[in-house]
Amino acid sequence: MSKIDFNTIPEGILLQEVANAKEVNWVNSHMTDAKSGLSGVSLTMADIEDAERRLERFASYIQVVFPETKENNGLIESPLTYIPIMQGCLEGNYDTEIMGKLYLKQDSHLAISGSIKARGGIYEVLKQAETLAIANGLLQETDDYAILAEDRFKEFFSGYKIQVGSTGNLGLSIGIMSACLGFEVIVHMSADAKQWKKDLLRQKGATVVEYDDDYSKAVKEGRDSSDADPKSHFVDDENSVTLFLGYAVAAKRLQKQFVEQNIVIDETHPLFVYIPCGVGGAPGGVTFGLKQVFGDNVHIFFIEPTQAPCMLVGMASEMNHEVSVQDFGLTGQTEADGLAVGRASGFVGGVMKPLLSGICTLEDKHLYDLMRDIVATQNIFLEPSACASFWGPVQLGKCQPYLDYVRNHNLGNVMENAIHIPWATGGNLVPEETRKEYMVKHLN
Ligand SMILES: *Cc1c(COP(=O)(O)O)cnc(C)c1O
Repeated sequence: MSKIDFNTIPEGILLQEVANAKEVNWVNSHMTDAKSGLSGVSLTMADIEDAERRLERFASYIQVVFPETKENNGLIESPLTYIPIMQGCLEGNYDTEIMGKLYLKQDSHLAISGSIKARGGIYEVLKQAETLAIANGLLQETDDYAILAEDRFKEFFSGYKIQVGSTGNLGLSIGIMSACLGFEVIVHMSADAKQWKKDLLRQKGATVVEYDDDYSKAVKEGRDSSDADPKSHFVDDENSVTLFLGYAVAAKRLQKQFVEQNIVIDETHPLFVYIPCGVGGAPGGVTFGLKQVFGDNVHIFFIEPTQAPCMLVGMASEMNHEVSVQDFGLTGQTEADGLAVGRASGFVGGVMKPLLSGICTLEDKHLYDLMRDIVATQNIFLEPSACASFWGPVQLGKCQPYLDYVRNHNLGNVMENAIHIPWATGGNLVPEETRKEYMVKHLN
């Protein structure tokens, strides 16, 4: 049962629908112009560039330990793919019109851990390694970081621990990268975490602690365990600025890809980006970066499952992380394991308030249909959480609140030039057996 009084909170009518687990399309009335929105955030472009340079310092090491990154010179980056057949398929299946061109940002195919967490998660582990090595006189910023692959570094890092709470993919990124450097790594996993992710982590040398509870519990246990140990670093998915900046670098990389593919983003060529949201760190970091780079010419929407719309309930009610989806009588349970979060990050919710265009929700049953569609049309496999991203362009083209959004931003006559990017957040590491199960799964 919901314990909310819908008569007294902001957006009460919409939130009543949310509490009834109905699909909604919310527009954020607090969004301002990018410049004033960003001026209220303590982080800046210089912070993103600092993160970008750190990743460049590590590129020579990454190439050595993950040879699959060689063709990208040790940068962990994903393809931007034009998907016109999927565009037609979505228009036909969901009776919508996607004006402009549909592309896919394939973070599902990021090297090392096959999800968007290979941005923030790996970045935070690398930063921790660099900090420790420099503080102990083993490394200088001007060194060739390939030396980090030497045994003496592994031995050094084995005296330190890294811990994280996760529904799965963050754990995979942190676990794989930490174990590779030599850290002792403990991943605290919620009940939603898929078995194959736990198995893979153990195989990579991480310790997996399982909880018969949700994501918030796994994070709390991880944080408590780490705080009690001075040699342990906790990767805090709810509050970490480091993670956030690792995600934000994506925007600068995307800018380069646009140049390579002759894609122009400006006042008459708007960019629409749709990102599945869990606790908010990954989509929030990417959004912050995109707003820094593309300003008012980018419009960003998050997508959440109807049973776990934590960022929506926090932002629309203006109660931020003071409220959880359980307060609204929802379960927090979803087939989209990467999005199975009951309470959003307060830090990210605050940063998003003047920057985010809106949030829409979808029922789990669509996830598998969309998964089959993207395989059938473009032969790209994505995990269920990532498929939520397609709901954005579907709704933008047909629902009244978003048609109004387009009109209110004077975009009506430039939509034929629009670039739409559903952000495919994960999938490449899903084992063949699990893929087969997903491909024949139908929910009512
Ligand atoms: C983590 C994740 C997200 C959302 O990221 P948050 O930081 O939790 O909001 C979306 N999709 C996939 C596949 C993920 O692993």
